[in-house]
Amino acid sequence: MHRYVYAFGNGTADGDGTMKDALGGKGAGLAEMSRAGMPVPPGFTVSTEVCNIFFEANRTVPDEIEREAAEALAVLEKRIGKKLGDAADPLLLSVRSGAKFSMPGMMNTILNLGLNDATTQGLAAKTGNERFAYDCYRRFIQMFGEVALEIDMSKFDEVFDARKHKAKAKLDTDLTAQDLEAVIAEYKKIVKKETKKDFPQNAREQLKLARNAVFNSWWNPKAGYYRKMERIPDNLGTAANVQAMVFGNMGDTSCTGVGFTRDPGSGEKVFYGEFLVNAQGEDVVAGIRTPQPISELTAWNEGVYSQLVEITTRLEKHYKDMQDFEFTVQEGKLYMLQTRNGKRTGPAAVRVAVEMQEEGLIDERTAVLRVAPSQLDQLLHPVFSQASLGKLTKLTRGTDASPGAAVGRVAFSADDAVEMSEKAPVILLRKETTPDDIHGMDAAKGIVTAIGGKSSHAAVVARGMGRPCVVGAGAIEISERAKTATVAVSGKTLTVKEGDWISMDGTTGDVYLGQAETQDPDPHSPLFAKFMSMADRFRGGFGVRANADIPRDAEVARKFGAEGIGLCRTEHMFFAEDRIAHMQAMILARDEKTRRKALAKLLPMQRRDFAGLFEAMEGFPVVIRTLDPPLHEFLPKREELMVDLAVLPAADAKKKKELGAKYKRFSAAGKTLKAVLQGLLSRVEELHEFNPMLGLRGCRLGILYPEITEMQARAILEAALQVSKKGKKVIPEIMIPLIGDVKELENQKKIVVQAAEEALRKAGRTDLKYLVGTMIEIPRAALTAASVAREAEFFSFGTNDLTQTTMGLSRDDYTKFQKDYEERKIFAQDPFGVLDREGVGKLIQMAVKAGREARPALEVGICGEHGGEPSSVEFCYRTGMDYVSCSPYRVPIARLAAAQAAIEGDRSEATRTA
Ligand code: ADP
Ligand code: MG
Ligand code: MG
Repeated sequence: MHRYVYAFGNGTADGDGTMKDALGGKGAGLAEMSRAGMPVPPGFTVSTEVCNIFFEANRTVPDEIEREAAEALAVLEKRIGKKLGDAADPLLLSVRSGAKFSMPGMMNTILNLGLNDATTQGLAAKTGNERFAYDCYRRFIQMFGEVALEIDMSKFDEVFDARKHKAKAKLDTDLTAQDLEAVIAEYKKIVKKETKKDFPQNAREQLKLARNAVFNSWWNPKAGYYRKMERIPDNLGTAANVQAMVFGNMGDTSCTGVGFTRDPGSGEKVFYGEFLVNAQGEDVVAGIRTPQPISELTAWNEGVYSQLVEITTRLEKHYKDMQDFEFTVQEGKLYMLQTRNGKRTGPAAVRVAVEMQEEGLIDERTAVLRVAPSQLDQLLHPVFSQASLGKLTKLTRGTDASPGAAVGRVAFSADDAVEMSEKAPVILLRKETTPDDIHGMDAAKGIVTAIGGKSSHAAVVARGMGRPCVVGAGAIEISERAKTATVAVSGKTLTVKEGDWISMDGTTGDVYLGQAETQDPDPHSPLFAKFMSMADRFRGGFGVRANADIPRDAEVARKFGAEGIGLCRTEHMFFAEDRIAHMQAMILARDEKTRRKALAKLLPMQRRDFAGLFEAMEGFPVVIRTLDPPLHEFLPKREELMVDLAVLPAADAKKKKELGAKYKRFSAAGKTLKAVLQGLLSRVEELHEFNPMLGLRGCRLGILYPEITEMQARAILEAALQVSKKGKKVIPEIMIPLIGDVKELENQKKIVVQAAEEALRKAGRTDLKYLVGTMIEIPRAALTAASVAREAEFFSFGTNDLTQTTMGLSRDDYTKFQKDYEERKIFAQDPFGVLDREGVGKLIQMAVKAGREARPALEVGICGEHGGEPSSVEFCYRTGMDYVSCSPYRVPIARLAAAQAAIEGDRSEATRTA
């Protein structure tokens, strides 16, 4: 018989830890812990399949499954020796959501189910604890009301807070049985008013409604958003776990708590977590009372503490990963309620992986797979420069909840954060966050909350997202309604308004008023270095290079482990103040002689830059691309010239002086300003293009003006000779951009080779090797790769342009309708972020194959921004490329992504040439 319901408890279980698909993560964990003989309250899991059936069947559960669930309930009743709805001695249940991938707080859980007016009396009599019974009932009505009856939670909160105020109770636990009884009466009135019905008294009915509510919570907006963010498929569904209740709110020998086997922020091997005495469920993380650190559990109940350490250590060894667990102690007896692989920050992921490998718990392969490439981002992000912090006012130090530094404008609500983040970086500042704030947390660069500890919602979610976060910054008094916050700093009250700049450091917990400067991270920390060298061992000959235009970037790239430069854009060298004039002169030249004069000025500057790149790369290859304009970027704007020309005749002395200074670098002896401006305008108009993206770009410029290519080739070879003379190895690779026909390459290659050979002959160094190759960024080049490869010694896929030209889509304009396209799922993701394997990828595969057939030694790489995106790196690896090239800070991410692709098989090594 096909099973829909799986029992667990009493040292056995129908399912086990491998069955996350059917049982969800929580259900699988409960089954596995039961099997291991750990103290888990018994129960049963209604599978994720039922959730999907439920949605298909118009939100109903077919009778045969209802029967199976009823049988499971009967078994549970027998095990516990109590019956659901029994007025004298009721069985109480929790009904808990739990999907395959953990979605913390995104879906719903209901506790104390089975209580009604009669069973509450029974519970009070049986336990001799009236206060406890009422506490359970009021919690149940509230949770059930919110989750299953869809009543706004704030309605209940208002009543509860009013009662606390009336009773002069500071804490929830200060309320007496009579207070709680009054609260219950009010709660029932709310239910009646909102649903037009009495609070459901039938326990079996409650159970069905609760289970269905758990299924329905799969489609909570926040759950949907979370799935999108984490790329969790919508069709998995959630399981519903029905479990006997245990009570952490039975008095001072009871508690509830959460913890981690290692510190999820730093990865340090310490027992980590919090507990709250006389409390239930989410009290610990909701910030109702300040919980105690788990280290204090030993003073509270030593036996429980050592049992918990023993169990969780066993769990970590069993799962071979850091565990995130939930527990409850009922009158001195420990129960485990959940365990899962804990979410962690990037730094913690690296540390845990390295240390678990050192401890012998996992092998190197597993350790390398344990860190998502994108998590490295957090280790590679800048930190605050101490000097700049000195100039800011420190507002407070909260709890360091998720490391990393961030600067942004303050937003007081999630919606504001989303809106403001379109214009400037945002820091979300809130009293506390709830799962409803998820979109705002995602939009923010950093999160600061006034209350909550390291396991509060903000902390847990921020760590999962890799967002810097400070919690419990209690000195900050926040008014979310007025959108202001106040802090007393050395006796003075400062007010922070929406839009003000603040700087926050999730590694230290510090929050500052103003904008701090940031500093580059250290790629040489021992743990990071060890992790990366472990990863590198799996990569084989597959290289990771960096895109770097100037020597300084090249040095950074080396530090992060780049094995060469995959793209140096020479046009970027010309924007510097001392060069732009020569560049403009070169562009404005109307004849070869004038152009050559300007080029002669640029040559030594280029040579110096190239030499710097060769030096920084210490013998690794350096790909230098010949000039790829847009030329118009170097010239004054046409409209501006027209305005200046128009105002010139009527300009006063001051204005004339201003214009003279503005166009000084274009002036020539004996020419009036008017003549200069007219000359400029007519040249700018000549150069004007209707569609610059498809105009005189790439190699087309060098074909029209061969002296440019010639100068650059000379500068490259002369620089190479210079560095080589010092006894250093150099590998120049000269790359011709944007070709669509092999004849374009032929033309440019001839010029390059001539200039290069001449430079080498002059230096008497004909032994120095260099390559001439091309960038593939037009579909036609990919389609004719076989003939292109006859000329090209290497291919480098320029996937930014190749994506634009293949899709007929401009990257800058796509942003305007990106949201619509991706929401409608026309594109699964941004094709400029993640390489489009089906279209662009197909062209690449074809070109690699045809190119290698024509020239077996063809070197192949990618230099578009995709070169640093993990899934695109994997694609490049599997396509048999020799390397990827990306921005310097993404080099470690690409190294790790390549290592993981290698570990995961299909190595394509056979076709790789380097
Ligand atoms: P989440 O997925 O949001 O963590 P859970 O289903 O784990 O939700 O429930 C939240 C909390 O409710 C648990 O951490 C635990 O404190 C409490 N809880 C759940 N089931 C039980 C139970 N059977 N007995 C006592 N407390 C429970
Ligand atoms: Mg939980
Ligand atoms: Mg290009």
